[in-house]
Amino acid sequence: MNTTPQAIRGTQDIFGADADSFAHVVETFERVRKLYRFRRVEMPVFEKTEVFSRSIGETTDVVSKEMYSFEDRGGESLTLRPEFTAGIARAWLTDGWKQYAPLKVATHGPLFRYERPQKGRYRQFHQIDAEVLGAAEPLADVELLVMADHLLKELGISDGVTLQLNTLGDVASREAWRAALVEYFRAHKADLSEDSQDRLERNPLRILDSKDARDKAFVADAPKIDTFLSGEAQDFFGTVTAGLDAAGVAYERAPTLVRGLDYYRHTAFEFVTSRLGAQGTVLGGGRYDGLMESLGGPVTPAVGWAAGIERLSMLVADAGAVPTAQLTVALAVEDDAALSYALKVMSGLRYQGLDVEIVASGSARKRYDKAVKLGARVLVSFGMTEGAPVANLRTTETTTASLAVEQVLQSIQP
Ligand code: ATP
Ligand code: MG
Repeated sequence: MNTTPQAIRGTQDIFGADADSFAHVVETFERVRKLYRFRRVEMPVFEKTEVFSRSIGETTDVVSKEMYSFEDRGGESLTLRPEFTAGIARAWLTDGWKQYAPLKVATHGPLFRYERPQKGRYRQFHQIDAEVLGAAEPLADVELLVMADHLLKELGISDGVTLQLNTLGDVASREAWRAALVEYFRAHKADLSEDSQDRLERNPLRILDSKDARDKAFVADAPKIDTFLSGEAQDFFGTVTAGLDAAGVAYERAPTLVRGLDYYRHTAFEFVTSRLGAQGTVLGGGRYDGLMESLGGPVTPAVGWAAGIERLSMLVADAGAVPTAQLTVALAVEDDAALSYALKVMSGLRYQGLDVEIVASGSARKRYDKAVKLGARVLVSFGMTEGAPVANLRTTETTTASLAVEQVLQSIQP
C-alpha cells in the first residue's frame, strides 16, 4: 500500500481558528502600517547565502546553526530567508532605494530557521516586519516603537506585554563596553556555560542574552553600557525615551538586552510577555546602522522590527480578541425552479458588499433548516408561487443588513 508523505517537522498547516487569528494579525498590521505610511514591499524568499552571513554575522546562532542553505543546480549557495532585514538592506543597495530616503517599508511572510520545534517555535514561521531605511534621527526609532505599541493595542494584547528598551550606544561606546565585558567575563570563564565560553572572544555581548542559569549569575553584575555611553549616544537615547514618554508608550529599561544579531547600534528593544512560556519575545528590533557596510554599501542608518505572527496569534486567541465573522445572508433555494433567480440575487448582494452563503443542494425539504443552521443575520428563502420564482425575506428585526437585502431584492426581478 502507498504511504502518505508526512509534513516536514516544524512546519505548520494553519487552519480553522488558528488561521482566523493569523489572518486577523496580518489584517490589523496592514491597517496600522497604513496609518504610519509604511509602504508595502514583497521580498524574495531566498537570497544568496552571503546576504545573510555577511549582515547577520557569522558568529550569531542564526547564521552558525539555524540557516537553511543549499546549493542550487547552478552550484550557487542559496539560503531560505531567516529574517527580512538583510534582504531589504540588499534591495536598498542593489535597487537604488536610496533615492526614496527616508524610506518606510513593511512586509510579512514566511521565514525559515533550523531550530528545535516546540510550541511557539517552528522551522517555517511567519513574521510581520517594519523598517525605516536611510534615517539617522532618533524620531525614526520613536515612530517604529509607537507603531509597534499601537499594533499590540489594536490587537487587544498589550496587557501583560512590556516594552524592554536598551541602547547599545554608537560604535565607540559599544567597543569600550565590549572590551569591559570581555575582561569581566574572562575572570569567570571557567564557571560560564560552554556556549558562553565560546562567545567570550567572538561575541561577548551575546553572553548577556544567554538563557543558561550558569551565565545568569554573572550577567547581573556585568559592566553596564551606561558607563561607556558617549555624550552623543546618551543624547540619542534621551531623545528616544522622551519621544516614547510624549507618545504615552510605557517601557522598562533593560540594561542586559542586546538582541542576538551583530548589526545593532543604539536602540535595541523587545516586547516580551510571560504568557507564552519560554517563547516570551513577541516583537523585537533595533537600529542597525552597521548593516549596509557589511554588505559592501555606504554607511546607511536604519532601524526596524519584526514580530512572529504565530506568537501574536496565540496571544490574540488567548485574549479572545479575534473578531467572529458572522454570516450576513443565507439563501435557501427550496425549489430548483427558483435557482437562477436566487443566483442573480446572490450576485447582486455580493456586489453590494454583503457576504452570502447559498443552500441549493440535497433534499429540497431540508434546505431551509440547513440554511437556518448557518446562523446568518438575514435569511432569504426562494420558492415558486403560481409558476413564478419568489423570494421571502425571513427576518424578525429591521437592521442595516435586512434593509440592504430588501433593497437588492427590490432591484433584482426574477
Ligand atoms: P528567540 O529568542 O525567541 O529565538 P529571536 O531573537 O531569534 O527570538 P528574532 O530574530 O528577533 O527572534 O525574530 C523576531 C520574532 O520572530 C521573535 O520575537 C518571535 O516572535 C519570532 N520568531 C523567531 N524565531 C521563531 C521561530 N522559530 N518560530 C516562531 N516564531 C519565531
Ligand atoms: Mg532565535
